[in-house]
Amino acid sequence: MADACVFCDIIAGRIPTEFVYEDDDVVAFSDIRPIAPTHLLVVPREHHSTLADTVSTREGPELLGRLLKVAGELGAARAEKDGGYRVVVNNGAAAGQTVYHLHVHVLSGRHFAWPPG
Ligand code: AMP
Ligand code: ZN
Repeated sequence: MADACVFCDIIAGRIPTEFVYEDDDVVAFSDIRPIAPTHLLVVPREHHSTLADTVSTREGPELLGRLLKVAGELGAARAEKDGGYRVVVNNGAAAGQTVYHLHVHVLSGRHFAWPPG
């Protein structure tokens, strides 16, 4: 757990949040400021600040695989209706990361332009 981490607060139950998915290592919940009709966040229970920090740990690759598996399953559950979905990890301030607890965005329900802004 990290000091003053909003996602650690959510995972610990200090900020009541409904999980759309949870297992021993991973939770998923709706983004509080959605940018698409479906906007979910897939989050490890263990605190890792960034993707860059996570890949360099021993358990990092397996954890990242689990996060992507959950993201893909949540996206697929909506893809038939929405015609597709986008999975995003913002790493660092220049990429738009605002919460420094690793998370994967799952977005669907509208068209997503490429390249992103
Ligand atoms: P990022 O900019 O990639 O770090 O994404 C962080 C996301 O966390 C943003 O889309 C925020 O809207 C979202 N967020 C921040 N606080 C909360 C919260 N309490 N519950 C749900 N989502 C949150
Ligand atoms: Zn945290």
